[in-house]
Amino acid sequence: MSGITLEGVEKRYPGGVLAVKGVDIDIESGEFVTLVGPSGCGKTTTLRTIAGFEQPTDGTVSIADEVVTDLPPYERDTGMVFQDFALFPHMTIHDNVAYGMEADGGYLDEEIDARVAEMLELVELPGMGDRTPDQLSGGQQQRVALARALAPKPQALLLDEPLASLDKKLREQMQVELRRIQQEVGITTVFVTHNQEEALTMSDRIAVMNDGRFEQVGPPGEVYDDPETRFVADFLGTANIFDGTVESVADGVATVECGDTTLRARNVGSVGAGDSASVVIRPERFDLEAASTDGGTTATASEGANVFEGTITFRRHLGSSIEYHLETLAGRELVVVRRSGHDERTAGDRVSVRVGVDDCRIVEA
Ligand code: ATP
Repeated sequence: MSGITLEGVEKRYPGGVLAVKGVDIDIESGEFVTLVGPSGCGKTTTLRTIAGFEQPTDGTVSIADEVVTDLPPYERDTGMVFQDFALFPHMTIHDNVAYGMEADGGYLDEEIDARVAEMLELVELPGMGDRTPDQLSGGQQQRVALARALAPKPQALLLDEPLASLDKKLREQMQVELRRIQQEVGITTVFVTHNQEEALTMSDRIAVMNDGRFEQVGPPGEVYDDPETRFVADFLGTANIFDGTVESVADGVATVECGDTTLRARNVGSVGAGDSASVVIRPERFDLEAASTDGGTTATASEGANVFEGTITFRRHLGSSIEYHLETLAGRELVVVRRSGHDERTAGDRVSVRVGVDDCRIVEA
């Protein structure tokens, strides 16, 4: 087994900055886990602590059931890929990929050649071994960096924003490619990105970091649909967030007074009457209908749903869907996404929006 375990990992830099404030995670063998969060939240420090480039000030790091906290990077059996590829410019692609095995010293030349050929095949650059990095495109260089990290058959792959310097289209291609290769090799992977979409599309699990801590760890669908904190709701994707005070809780449904309106929401946490709380609603969860009246903008509670009326103020095509912004609830803006690209409503139209109570999620304020 080649999982990774962090227990109470804390990192205080010499100047006093507490970059990582005690994180725990058990990453299973073969799992792809992404650390995502805003700039400065401690993602890279956590990754470098796993790699051994940083020494934690508290806690332990284990790789493949072995405590490696005090081992230097080269004794940890991990492969790392960086944002700037960090290929050796004067070496051929072959020699770049062979580097880790050469440094190890325990391989025959023909073993190395066979492995390099296998790795270049894996990253779809067969026959490119004689070129130098400057003869390859950015995307190809990134594939070489990946081949180089994987060649010595490490226990774990550590990726620090490896796609950040690629343009959007190439980046999207490489997201798919990287995931394919990771699954084919079956290697335990920790990936760092500040790009939420990348985290949601690539990972088995996401750890959302904020200010040196893991705010929530879970599969992409769960973290997106069931954010546990306001920060997670806000950071991953678009969220409609209504802040208010809990009026009552019954049968797992909280009634929350949000200024001029009252919303009912699934109460997953432990909020009680009188607590401050926020109601989170994802844009795709709404149903749009023509408005039945020209009247008010208060949410009304209908059978298992909250219903709003509002006026479309903005519409944009997202390709396969359409996003509307509505003015509703005493001037508040609501973002609504319709999945169908054939919706012909335009700015100025009055609409009624309905969202199931189950699709409204309470988070502590
Ligand atoms: P980014 O997305 O911008 O790379 P990050 O989430 O990876 O950010 P880190 O690079 O881990 O964050 O930094 C976490 C905190 O630690 C920041 O406040 C940063 O300024 C600080 N920090 C990082 N490296 C050092 C260092 N070598 N010495 C002192 N402080 C550091």
